[in-house]
Amino acid sequence: MENGSLESKPRDLVKNLAANDTIAAIATPPGEGAIAIIRVSGPDAIPVVARTFRSRIPLNSVDGYTVHYGTFVDQAGSVVDDGLVTVFRAPHSYTGEDSVELSCHGGVYVPNAVLTSVISAGARPAQPGEFTRRAFLNGKMDLTQAEAVASLIASTSAKGHRASLEQLRGRLGWTIDDIRSQVVNLCALLELDLDFSQEGLTVVGTDAIERKINEIAGRIQSIADTFKSGRVYRDGVSVAIVGRPNVGKSSLFNALLHESRAIVTPIAGTTRDYLEESITIDGILFRLTDTAGLRESGDAIEAEGIVRSRQSIEKADIVVLVEVDGEGNEGHDVPSRLITVSNEQALVIVKNKIDLVEGRSPARRALAGDYLRRSEVWLSSKTGEGMKLLTDELVRLVEMSANSSNESIQITMQRHWEILQESLQFLNIAREGLLKGVTNEFIAFDVRSAALALGEITGEVTSEEILNEVFAHFCIGK
Ligand code: GDP
Repeated sequence: MENGSLESKPRDLVKNLAANDTIAAIATPPGEGAIAIIRVSGPDAIPVVARTFRSRIPLNSVDGYTVHYGTFVDQAGSVVDDGLVTVFRAPHSYTGEDSVELSCHGGVYVPNAVLTSVISAGARPAQPGEFTRRAFLNGKMDLTQAEAVASLIASTSAKGHRASLEQLRGRLGWTIDDIRSQVVNLCALLELDLDFSQEGLTVVGTDAIERKINEIAGRIQSIADTFKSGRVYRDGVSVAIVGRPNVGKSSLFNALLHESRAIVTPIAGTTRDYLEESITIDGILFRLTDTAGLRESGDAIEAEGIVRSRQSIEKADIVVLVEVDGEGNEGHDVPSRLITVSNEQALVIVKNKIDLVEGRSPARRALAGDYLRRSEVWLSSKTGEGMKLLTDELVRLVEMSANSSNESIQITMQRHWEILQESLQFLNIAREGLLKGVTNEFIAFDVRSAALALGEITGEVTSEEILNEVFAHFCIGK
């Protein structure tokens, strides 16, 4: 493969994937609402809508960025609704094509009737994410920005929102482009060296090349390392509240809900039962699981309780183990003794019911050093004393892992993380080859593979398969 192919714009290769037809979809969620928006985009967007919309000035002759009041009619010419249409002319639209946004009344019937008229007038129903896909193919955004659109819509907390917004503004794409161009330059150096070595000359020393590979790999690693906290900000942090019966798990669960200003409803699609609730504290989404409700005696139920506690512990980012202050654990081996918390997980031992212990006040202390993320908090879930220490501790634990990186950008997507790992592997192979004295030709090949991999993040190197994968997660109308 010639170096030139890295410099070309492979996005052009998928241009033929950009269909030249006109698409339409309802862009607002279904159900009753004051207003619904139907989006139409493509070369015939304006004439298609003009066929279903009666306005004072015919739509075909209006400028872009203008809004028009009128009446939506069906194929037979009967009035469906009154409303507004906003006209965008290519390339000044979200998709880069001629586009029209129709605002009609919400509900189930009206938006669908308007959409039906638009489709009978010549548009076709859009696939999920097809508007954003067109925006990408028309060069309006890179692939990271297209993905950010979906995660911005899905964001549930202030921190998740911020990471998506940064990505939407293109910072991740620029950073990856910058690293990729360093890899491409390295590749060019190796090839230059190759030309000269055929004449028995060396231009760049092995040391210099190794240094460059290390430098680039270090940067990629540091970005990849932001994934863990990035994912936490996007998807939230799972907190399992565990402990033996009657220590006050349910009381603590309720006190946490009370302490947090915002109670968030669970993300659609997750099972909701009374043991799970999501809250945000300082812009971070915490998904709490209470393993309470298991206080009936009886071996079978106890065993079931242990199984359930263990399951929620395994899935948790933070385990909150509740014990009663002043009571030892002797004779109460369920589930304290059965708890195993991995190094990846944080553990907070809550010493509850301090109101029952003479002279005890709320406190927090690190167990085995803060960096091991093991701590103890004394509180009373009944009186609320010390609850603030616990919420501060939960936030601290999350931010500690997030701040361990110097990177100002944050990876929140598995796809990006996997590609970064792949490019690191290619660079490692290149480095090993270099040290073994493999010829530059092979090293250049591995370095080029790393550049190609990086290009998949922004969509500089892409295929229909990658696009289908990315846009499969979108909703219709986006
Ligand atoms: P769980 O079985 O672990 O979920 O425990 P519960 O939350 O149901 O609490 C068991 C009992 O302890 C209830 O009677 C609570 O009112 C009481 N309790 C919980 N937290 C405290 C506390 O901080 N102080 C006192 N005095 N009682 C508490």
